[in-house]
Amino acid sequence: MFDIVCLDLEGVLVPEIWINVAERLNIEALRATTRDIPDYDVLMQQRLRILDEHQLTLHDIQRVIADMGPLPGAREFLDWIRERYQLIILSDTFYEFAHPLMRQLGWPTLFCHKLEVDATGRIGAYRLRMPDQKTEAVRRLHELNFTVVAAGDSYNDTGMLAEADRGVFFDAPKSIQVQFPQFQATHSYEELKAEITRR
Ligand SMILES: [Mg+2]
Repeated sequence: MFDIVCLDLEGVLVPEIWINVAERLNIEALRATTRDIPDYDVLMQQRLRILDEHQLTLHDIQRVIADMGPLPGAREFLDWIRERYQLIILSDTFYEFAHPLMRQLGWPTLFCHKLEVDATGRIGAYRLRMPDQKTEAVRRLHELNFTVVAAGDSYNDTGMLAEADRGVFFDAPKSIQVQFPQFQATHSYEELKAEITRR
């Protein structure tokens, strides 16, 4: 039995945050992802500029995110894991965005990044703690002699899945699955539970 379960957040436990914010605010330009603009910094600067243009503060975004809610069954799935394993959510989102969703998920442990927000709620900048923190976190857990099973849905998870003792895809697009056939594909929390507990 593995010691620690590391889970991606967006696409596994909650919807894709930026895409849903763009849809709910009806701002087409906010829909861009790293598939459209591969340079993450260019993408983030564009997102922050668009928020400024629409005079949207962190509080506006947090309201939208709170309404979005976790994926159906996510809370029960996490409760199941936390009875049996230690759980760490490894995400490339920001604490300020994740906050309303973490409340709905019962405040699990989350390692992610930070925004710089001024007194008016304007988001001025973002701060990544380190590059590829998902992979680095699993590496450090191994140094502490923990065994790790990890699950995620996209490219930014594949380093973490490779580093883990078992890496599992959850609802990954077919195009990504076929490039990484070494990671078992799952499409429901029941299937993911089976992979987590499988010997
Ligand atoms: Mg994801």
